[in-house]
Amino acid sequence: MEADLLEISDGKLYGTNDMVKVGCHDCQGCSSCCQGMGDSIWLDPYDIFQLTRNLNKTFQELLAKEVELHVEDGLVLPNIKMQGEEHSSCSFLDKNGRCSIHSFRPGLCRLFPLGRNYEEDKLTYFLLVHECPAKNKTKMKVNKWLGVPRIKDYEDFLVAWHNLTKGLRSYLMENAQDEAVTKALNLKFLGIFYMTPFQGEDFYLEFKVRLEKWQNL
Ligand code: SF4
Ligand code: SF4
Repeated sequence: MEADLLEISDGKLYGTNDMVKVGCHDCQGCSSCCQGMGDSIWLDPYDIFQLTRNLNKTFQELLAKEVELHVEDGLVLPNIKMQGEEHSSCSFLDKNGRCSIHSFRPGLCRLFPLGRNYEEDKLTYFLLVHECPAKNKTKMKVNKWLGVPRIKDYEDFLVAWHNLTKGLRSYLMENAQDEAVTKALNLKFLGIFYMTPFQGEDFYLEFKVRLEKWQNL
C-alpha cells in the first residue's frame, strides 16, 4: 500500500466479501458527508443512468439544477452540485438532512467512508479512518455496504471507466496546449458517455457498446 494511503486508512485493503467497520447506525441525524463537498462527488455514466432513469430527467435537465461540470486534468466531468449558502449542501439533501435519492444515490455516496484502490485491473477498497464521525461503528460486508446489484459487472465497469478516464487525462495533460484537440475530445467524450440517453435496462451492455464506439474513434 502506498504511503499516502497508509496515513488516511487503517492500512488494509478490502474485497467485496470482506467485513469492514463502516456501519454508522443509519447516520442518526448526521449529514456531514453531504455538505461542503465542493466538486468532489464525481458522477460516472452508471450514476447518470440511475439519476436520469429514476428522476425522469435528461442529463441536460440535471445540468440545469442538481449537477454541474468541472475540469479535471483537462477532462470535463460531471459532479453533484452543492447549493444554498456558500454552496454548502448537496442539491439532493432534503430539509430534514436526509438524502432524497437514497435508493439510487451515486456510487461515491454509497462508498463513503470507503475509497477505491485500483491496481492494474483489480479493484479493492480502503477505509478512510478520519472522515466519518459516527461512534461505535459496526462491521458490514463491503458488498452489502455498497448495495449495488450485479456487483461483479459493476466493478468491471468501474475498472474499465477508471482506465479510460486515466488514459484520457494523461493524454489531455500531455497535449494541454492544443485547445482544439481538448475541446473536440471532451465533446465526443461527453456526447458518447453522458449526453446520449441510455435506452435499455441493461446499463452494462450499453456501456460496452459505447466503449467500443469510443475505442474505434
Ligand atoms: S459522515 Fe458518516 S454518519 Fe455522517 S452522514 Fe456521512 S456516512 Fe453518515
Ligand atoms: S446524493 Fe445523497 S448521499 Fe450523496 S451527497 Fe447528496 S444527499 Fe448526500
